[in-house]
Amino acid sequence: MKALVLDKYNELNYRDFPDPEIGPDEVLICVKACGICGSDVHGMDGSTGRRIPPLIMGHEASGIIEEIGKNVVDWKPGDRVTFDSTIYPLNDWYTRKGHYNLSDKRMVLGVSPGNYRKHGAFAELVAVPAHILYCIPENVTFEQAAMVEPVAVAAHAVNISKISPGQSALVVGAGMVGSFVVKMLEIAGADPVIAIDLDEGKLEMAREYGATHTFKTTDENSSEKILELTKGRGVDVGFEVVGISETVNCCIDGLRKGGTAVLVGNLNPEVTIPLQKVVTTELSLLGSCAINGEYEMVLDLMATGKINVDRMISAVVPLSEGADWFRRLYHKEPGLNKVILVP
Ligand SMILES: [Zn+2]
Repeated sequence: MKALVLDKYNELNYRDFPDPEIGPDEVLICVKACGICGSDVHGMDGSTGRRIPPLIMGHEASGIIEEIGKNVVDWKPGDRVTFDSTIYPLNDWYTRKGHYNLSDKRMVLGVSPGNYRKHGAFAELVAVPAHILYCIPENVTFEQAAMVEPVAVAAHAVNISKISPGQSALVVGAGMVGSFVVKMLEIAGADPVIAIDLDEGKLEMAREYGATHTFKTTDENSSEKILELTKGRGVDVGFEVVGISETVNCCIDGLRKGGTAVLVGNLNPEVTIPLQKVVTTELSLLGSCAINGEYEMVLDLMATGKINVDRMISAVVPLSEGADWFRRLYHKEPGLNKVILVP
């Protein structure tokens, strides 16, 4: 098969690669679309330690089943599918507790952190276990289905916050995942939904996805404006989607007493938090890791038109041009959101 292979750090080659072999519980998928994730772009230079070459990256994908393993019963060749980015073991304490995203020995597709190497979907073919597959609704395209993963990350964060209709929310960081968090909050009935970002273009996007109010990070009066919008108390739930000290503090600062901060961004391994404020106002800090079964809900929301992901797709291009698009994303070309590669 042809694949886009990270042969060395910062060196992507579109070349021949041996076809993957499937085990008895796996399926072979003919990849139709695979999105470039920020973690792939950051990871290809070796800085994160999670893309050790040689590796085929890519974990936001969709395709058609080509072949099934001998134990696979619920799927057949020709089925249109997308799949979880996490390959988790079924016989695991956390999986059995309903937290497969935390399971021991979980692997992420297209990742090689040292203790495993799992080739991903920047290729004509990929092999995955049948238990991570989801059927794509008829009216959802392969490109849209490749967007399910980032939406599901946002959906998971909103799910674990347990926000109720009418509660107020703040989203710090209005990039792609942040804007999807805004959308999921709107669907969940939160009001107001306030978004904060440095970049006016991203705030514009957040408004399109349902933010009722937006403030620039540099706006000195944003704290007062948040109080005005929340009966002088602060928001019920805040979402931090960047992962540096400034934005974590901005999120905590916007909360009411007893409020909850959901931490999604993790750019920096450590941040400083206002400990006394957290303790004396009984704040809850919740980490949100990846996805825990939100795929089907997101596919349904796409099928019914409640969430539109096309706005986020900047380009759909051949896999053979992948190296060039990685370079453009790596150099932060303005206005580029999701780039989808098609084998
Ligand atoms: Zn990703």
